Amino acid sequence: MSVNRILSTKGRNVATIDPKSTLGEAAHILSERKIGALLVSDGTRPVSGIISERDIVRAVSAHGAKALDEPLSRFMTEKVVTCTSRTAIKEVMESMTNGKFRHVPVVENGALVGIISIGDVVKFRLAEIEAETQAIKDYITTG
Ligand code: AMP
Repeated sequence: MSVNRILSTKGRNVATIDPKSTLGEAAHILSERKIGALLVSDGTRPVSGIISERDIVRAVSAHGAKALDEPLSRFMTEKVVTCTSRTAIKEVMESMTNGKFRHVPVVENGALVGIISIGDVVKFRLAEIEAETQAIKDYITTG
């Protein structure tokens, strides 16, 4: 099963932010939208970086509250692991586990077309396990 299956259910909207915005502004958007990460885009490239709640915790722990007034580009991760809509969901799960991150942007032909979070993957797997269980029950009762 590919990433496209998840995108067709959750939609292709991605919350993005300009690298010159402050870390405090990023924290505000994450809190408002109840999400864990923002894609950083300067408008010229689809992905300039990613800033997640963990980056904010790390920055405040290292520099104190003054970090919130700094441009978020100082604290974002620049080397972002991405996938395409054809990537297998299993592969995305492996990337998240190996890289210890919970968000993977979906990039297609140089454009950002979605984002997969660990929550999306867990939701998908639960539905898949339920469907498998039901199929086995049906097989037993009709067999
Ligand atoms: P997260 O678990 O997604 O909150 O992110 C944990 C750390 O990994 C943070 O430093 C993020 O900036 C970074 N990160 C998140 N997603 C990715 C990704 N797809 N590729 C590389 N780094 C990431």
